[in-house]
Amino acid sequence: MTESEEKRESKNFIEQAIDADLAAGRFSEVHTRFPPEPNGYLHIGHAKSICLNFGLANAYGGTCNLRFDDTNPTKEETEYVDAIMEDIRWLGFEWNSLHFASDYFDQLYTWAEKLIHDGHAFVCDLSGDEIREFRGTLTEPGRNSPFRDRSGDENLDLFRRMREGEFEDGSRSLRAKIDMASPNINLRDPVMYRILRATHHRTGDKWCIYPTYDWTHGQSDSLEGITFSICTLEFENHRPLYNWFCEKLGIHHPRQIEFAKLKLNTLLMGKRYMLRMVKEGHVKGWDDPRMPTICGYRRRGYTPESIRSFCADVGVAKFNSTIDIIRLENAIREHLNKVAPRRMAVLDPVKLTITNWPAGKVEMTEAINNPEDPSAGRRQVPFSGDLYIEREDFREEAPRKFFRLKKGGAVRLRAGYIVDCQEVIKDSEGNITEILCTYDPETKSGADQSGRKVKGTIHWVSAEHAVDVQVRLYDRLFSVDNPGDTQEGQTFLDNLNPDSLRVVTAKAEPALAETAIGDRVQFERLGYFVVDPDSTTQLHVFNRIVPLRDTWGKMEAKGKAH
Ligand code: ATP
Ligand code: MG
Repeated sequence: MTESEEKRESKNFIEQAIDADLAAGRFSEVHTRFPPEPNGYLHIGHAKSICLNFGLANAYGGTCNLRFDDTNPTKEETEYVDAIMEDIRWLGFEWNSLHFASDYFDQLYTWAEKLIHDGHAFVCDLSGDEIREFRGTLTEPGRNSPFRDRSGDENLDLFRRMREGEFEDGSRSLRAKIDMASPNINLRDPVMYRILRATHHRTGDKWCIYPTYDWTHGQSDSLEGITFSICTLEFENHRPLYNWFCEKLGIHHPRQIEFAKLKLNTLLMGKRYMLRMVKEGHVKGWDDPRMPTICGYRRRGYTPESIRSFCADVGVAKFNSTIDIIRLENAIREHLNKVAPRRMAVLDPVKLTITNWPAGKVEMTEAINNPEDPSAGRRQVPFSGDLYIEREDFREEAPRKFFRLKKGGAVRLRAGYIVDCQEVIKDSEGNITEILCTYDPETKSGADQSGRKVKGTIHWVSAEHAVDVQVRLYDRLFSVDNPGDTQEGQTFLDNLNPDSLRVVTAKAEPALAETAIGDRVQFERLGYFVVDPDSTTQLHVFNRIVPLRDTWGKMEAKGKAH
């Protein structure tokens, strides 16, 4: 458990409801489930639901199932099933047992016949459009279907023939017989089965009628002995129907509890958006490090701990709201600050030459791996008279508060010496090509006898020892808070951040050539980075997970963000 998962003391409304039901003896255990539809990759919103369902089961010593809600044969694929399982495991959870709603098709069919037999369901010959028209509106009651009063025998005969494939797709449906005047539209004789000839990813062509979500979900929960069926707010209005089916069938009756979906600014998590981003090549796939998918965050370098801790931190709510993306970014910063070894890499190198350094001399300096974690120890970094520093760490003329290196000024080189800038060399176009400094031998880091104080410390690498690495500087995919909100004539694609990826070749300290795919490090003063699977033995590729500080927040505060 992460700190955030542990530290919360007061119980949320779901835990209070569970406590009350356990105390009242309504249920004797906590049995939850995570029920994804295998029609896409999981996103950070799903992570919230996963953490909640598995987290509650863990907290109460109960169990959590994984159930694929695969009742929609036209949109579902096995590729998604595998990816979803991988993502859940990566987040650190293991299901008690694995199920598919399609495994219950036979049982659901039998139960449908029972409802017909008991007079609670009927075969309706209205088309989809007619059903909608008869349904009424929020302010107007619906009208009974002319087929509502068919005899039980006729209904049973027609339903069986629906299953046998005697009727055209969409020509008939099985509907629950409830109340066309109910203020809750979900109770106005909802459809339970539709005729649809489509090959299902698991049941193949066995069925030409498929059950609806409402007719499947609660019954699947019941069959698995789920006690708390936790779902998002848009299903609040479906709860009476959930309860109606369980009551009419007289089966184990779980309790449905709703919470608000996780929504984060700057992200678009809807499947239709994500699918379009992938299909049209705006990103390089579902696991592009800029995607809000769990596999995207994994490749970006997020840790499961940071995502779990973020979800715990955000908590559960009964009302929809938007969470600031900065909280997710802070969660990964906080985790990596504790565990990521520090290394030096220069992303935009300019030469710094120490003119009084003995020619050819190489000195090993000792650098601290992680100031937050003494057990991480120290490492040796080669220091010499030919270095690279970050171009932006030098200014010929600088304002007073510029505590890096300026002409005539001094700065400390991390784990090295204080250097004084003497001279600047430029090319014919006026670009700085080399900075000439002297070093002060008395000022070696850790053994400084000089008493000299300088305000700034900058990172560097030794030119001769540096390794070239590719660095992918990822930034937010969208540059606005609500990418889905668009002006007339525009689409969400107009809100794409044109600078969401910048690729540079950096000079890195030799230790960075020893890293393996998936290793996370802090590039000192720059941010956290992870070794991408695109890395080869010739070239290491690093993804920027997140910069050290929240530059977006600051830019926005100053009105400079575009
Ligand atoms: P989307 O269309 O965004 O993929 P969905 O609700 O259609 O979302 P499902 O596969 O049906 O996706 O969802 C599986 C579970 O995850 C459901 O219980 C659902 O309520 C939950 N879930 C989906 N999105 C979120 C979210 N943003 N926050 C919290 N839970 C979510
Ligand atoms: Mg869905």
